[in-house]
Amino acid sequence: MKKTFRVFACLLSLVLLSGCVTSLVEAKAKVAEYYENGSYERDVAQKLKEAEKLLPRRGAYNTIGSAVVFDIDDTALSTYEYQKGMGFGHYGVAWHQWLEMKRGKAIKPVLDFYNLARERGLTVFFVSGRREKFRRVTEENLRAVGFDGWKALYMKPDDFKSKSVVELKMAHRIAIEKQGYKIVMNIGDQPSDLEGGHAKHTVLLPNLIYGVR
Ligand SMILES: [Mg+2]
Repeated sequence: MKKTFRVFACLLSLVLLSGCVTSLVEAKAKVAEYYENGSYERDVAQKLKEAEKLLPRRGAYNTIGSAVVFDIDDTALSTYEYQKGMGFGHYGVAWHQWLEMKRGKAIKPVLDFYNLARERGLTVFFVSGRREKFRRVTEENLRAVGFDGWKALYMKPDDFKSKSVVELKMAHRIAIEKQGYKIVMNIGDQPSDLEGGHAKHTVLLPNLIYGVR
């Protein structure tokens, strides 16, 4: 009886498990659908609609000297073309070639939010995990799709070796504060963009494709 129960329990858990597990092919198709049917952009817009309420109004006492920090990849610029082209995998050489091609598209709700922040008199900064050697192509890509008028772009040193960007991105925000700015909002698609404080509010945008420590 005990054995029968064990076999039954085993079979039941297998049935439940097979009901839960999705094949990699199916999972990738679902992710592609999310990004391509408008759901992704709708979710980004929804997050920023909430964030808009936290931005100082134009002319408010706290707009002067206030800053908003944006990450770049999959925050300001979409890398979806690269991700899908790689079958949602990653290969350093291909990634670098893609960056050189300056093909990142503006994520529309983020560009709208960026322009709103500037209209309200806030200073905007980029803090990116891209390496310094991609500075020229990154700046050209940003400007070509409408991100212009930022105060400074902070990047990863070419010889950066740490496994995590948290400390580096925090150090860049501290450098912004040392110039006399108060960071009212830090916007990124990875928790590692936002960890470490030095921003009054943080906004985490959706990213179903990859994670960066
Ligand atoms: Mg990013």
